[in-house]
Amino acid sequence: MPHTIVALATPTGRSGIGVIRLSGNESISICQVLTGDPDFSPNARTAYLKQLYDPATGEVIDEAIVTYFKAPHSFTGQDVVEISCHGSPVLLRQVIDICLKQDARMAEAGEFTLRALSNGRMNLAEAEAIRDLIDAQTNASARQAIRQLRGEFSIQLQPIKDELLDVIVLLESALEFVEDDLPETQVESVRTGLGKLNAKITKLASTFTAGRLIREGLKVALVGRPNVGKSSLFNALLGNERAIVTEIAGTTRDQIHERFVVDNIPISLIDTAGLRQTTDLVESIGVKRSRAVMADADIVVVMIDASEPLTADDLEIIDSADGIRHIIVINKIDKARLIDIENFKFQISDFKSQILDHKPQISDFKSQISDFKSQIVEISARTGHGLDELQKAIVQPFAVNDASGPGFLVTDARHHDLLLRAANEIDDSLRQWESKMSEEIVLIGLHNALRYLGQITGETTTEDMLTRIFETFCIGK
Ligand code: GDP
Repeated sequence: MPHTIVALATPTGRSGIGVIRLSGNESISICQVLTGDPDFSPNARTAYLKQLYDPATGEVIDEAIVTYFKAPHSFTGQDVVEISCHGSPVLLRQVIDICLKQDARMAEAGEFTLRALSNGRMNLAEAEAIRDLIDAQTNASARQAIRQLRGEFSIQLQPIKDELLDVIVLLESALEFVEDDLPETQVESVRTGLGKLNAKITKLASTFTAGRLIREGLKVALVGRPNVGKSSLFNALLGNERAIVTEIAGTTRDQIHERFVVDNIPISLIDTAGLRQTTDLVESIGVKRSRAVMADADIVVVMIDASEPLTADDLEIIDSADGIRHIIVINKIDKARLIDIENFKFQISDFKSQILDHKPQISDFKSQISDFKSQIVEISARTGHGLDELQKAIVQPFAVNDASGPGFLVTDARHHDLLLRAANEIDDSLRQWESKMSEEIVLIGLHNALRYLGQITGETTTEDMLTRIFETFCIGK
């Protein structure tokens, strides 16, 4: 019999209330110990105001609201007790410790939801939707998670699985019972059936472009030599003083991450250490990391200081963004300018030719001025000029044109991957069928496709896959 599990269901830290949740057969008996009331036999779904005691000392430790959810009509499908205590971290720890002494064990990440899944209270895609809802960073991603939680993914998948099963049954029965080949009409209906299935799955998978954006958002790396104004822009975009702005070059040694939202897209902005050739060990580690962040970013914002002449460092940074999606931001336009958009390209090319003689390593620059395609935005991090335009420029390349309006979106990379695999298998089977291969061969791919689709909702998911998925949940859920 599985252990009764316990965990804090609300965030750690001080709060008005903190909810401790128990799930399993011992939930009520543990609660009887906690309430010092061996006869406590609560009605389901009724809130009781109870004193909580430390059984070791008999001392009252809190006054709490206790609610019982009787199996199988609970979140996990097991007996569940929720104890709403006052939100003192010390007290909550004490209550959990008492439960642990009473034979409960600490719940692992996502274990309540895993139990709900094992007890048939929800399917895997719905369980994952709970995690996504909790993690949602925007209204749009919360809305998608709710749709998935309410079973919309399964509703989309079911007809696809049914149609696939129809084709499988037809081919299986042809194998078993039909002496001669299938009649031409059926051969044709298998062909069109598989073609349609493939199109449906591919269409569903294609919603991932928008779904991923809504859920995960964009990683934006902010790079530029020291003192061009990266931290200032970072603060201006976030509207606070998260990164420290200083006059001394090279002070932003580590990356700082912050999130904000533009057009419902969560943006993770990474202010990197000033990218600069350096001999300072600490700083050079930062510079190395900055380069890694650039490679990993969805888009890089390269910053130049409009009030100073271009330097070799600027050029090198611009060049290192070559091949990566990037925007060049010319900052400090509130000051007297030495650089502006109109002659920026010209200045770069001119400057390059000037320094080539002195810095031969720059001669292998990849970006040729003739195909200089970067988008350039002028801003002043100090006055806020151009920030709206910059925000638009960041999200614009990722805008999704979905004329049909916001329908159900696939938001999880795992689901997307499984849909693509299923579509590939069906595509292979279709080509095999068209080249008149045997039913047996064609069926292999179709069974694989059905298995992949089943893994989305968890019907065909193995134990270790579940473990990996539930590791991404938070404790207490
Ligand atoms: P970082 O090293 O690239 O992060 O640069 P900081 O954000 O620390 O800025 C360096 C200096 O430039 C600070 O003194 C800022 O106040 C100043 N600065 C940044 N942006 C602007 C701007 O748009 N206009 C003006 N006039 N000064 C700026």
